[in-house]
Amino acid sequence: MTKTIAINAGSSSLKWQLFEMPEEEVIAQGIVERIGLKDSIFTIKYDSGKKYNKVLDIPDHESAVNDLLEQLLRLNIIASYDEITGAGHRIVAGGEYFKESALVDEEALRKVEELGDFAPLHNPAEATVIRVFQKVLPKTTNVVVFDTSFHATMPKKNYLYSIPFEYYEKYRARKYGAHGTSHRYVSERAADMLGKPLAELKLITCHLGNGASITAVQGGKSVDTSMGFTPLAGVTMGTRSGDIDASLLPYLMKKLNLTDIKEMVDILNKKSGLLGISGISSDMRDLLDVESTNEMAATAIEIFVNRIQKYIAGYVAVMNGCDAIVFTAGIGENSVPIREKIIEGITWFGCKIDSEKNNVHGQERIISTDDSTMKVLLIPTNEELMIARDVERLK
Ligand code: ADP
Repeated sequence: MTKTIAINAGSSSLKWQLFEMPEEEVIAQGIVERIGLKDSIFTIKYDSGKKYNKVLDIPDHESAVNDLLEQLLRLNIIASYDEITGAGHRIVAGGEYFKESALVDEEALRKVEELGDFAPLHNPAEATVIRVFQKVLPKTTNVVVFDTSFHATMPKKNYLYSIPFEYYEKYRARKYGAHGTSHRYVSERAADMLGKPLAELKLITCHLGNGASITAVQGGKSVDTSMGFTPLAGVTMGTRSGDIDASLLPYLMKKLNLTDIKEMVDILNKKSGLLGISGISSDMRDLLDVESTNEMAATAIEIFVNRIQKYIAGYVAVMNGCDAIVFTAGIGENSVPIREKIIEGITWFGCKIDSEKNNVHGQERIISTDDSTMKVLLIPTNEELMIARDVERLK
């Protein structure tokens, strides 16, 4: 029996899924939350329906991994550590160095740490978790899978900002994008669902979760994406502003008496987007619940929809066409009205939503009408499976 674990480590959390491979069957999954804080929460779901929950103090990522592996043994999910032959680690920033997933060796690990400049909250924690895995599971093959690498195929005209070129040359200041593993997964699924080779398709993939990004995928390759140097850019998100005019920053800092630009960027990351506009919530469900009675909730939804429509239209131009739009992630998979609002405003492109087919949550399905020339697809994302597949492929 060989098992592969897909790890998604954040600065204070560790999400994981354990797969039986090559069957691709999820045998357990869980999350450790509040690492480094008091009362960390440890959750494991296993054996189709059983749940293990514990609140304890987990001081750091090393203890989190150790506790997790011990618990897998204790709950008989694994019989020995040797069963876990592969571990795939999601890494936020791969910069220009990692153009695809890679086997972990000392050089790769050092590079992941160095790229902490681009993702200071994530890359160092992710590297720590890999080092713990190397220590506790010395026989396991570790693979790194990057949020950015799917976008490594973007042409210069789409990844360069219109700023002095030397900033790119000297400091690698450019667009990197994010959510790459999700965009890659749904693109491959879309080709299967449409019964056409990915190489022949032009797709616009919309990953709409708390973080949201839109990608133009031509011939299976990302040619443009809405997130930028960091995940702050692009469409309106739960708490992130998406695109704004950079000149607003000094203006608002003066008005708000802020002296540290980090505080301003923090506002754009954590207090903006749906939350900032509505003043109610960053959660789309909360806004939809009060849309008919609360004007600012309705406005936040309108802005969210509008920014996505503009990106879709832009990417039709970037690829000079589009065979299908794909919706995925929390909002994309579950929100019937948001999908409908987005498509109903852009029917000029030849896409028409079928309201009966669209009345579905989290299930793979073509949701456009049969005569729609640009198809609309709902595809639940599965980044963990993509990570596990990359481990299988590389190990
Ligand atoms: P994350 O980026 O944190 O992984 P998710 O992909 O889980 O986020 O998406 C979270 C978003 O999905 C939230 O805004 C939530 O409101 C939204 N969502 C989940 N279920 C629904 C639903 N039934 N209708 C509308 N929005 C939903």
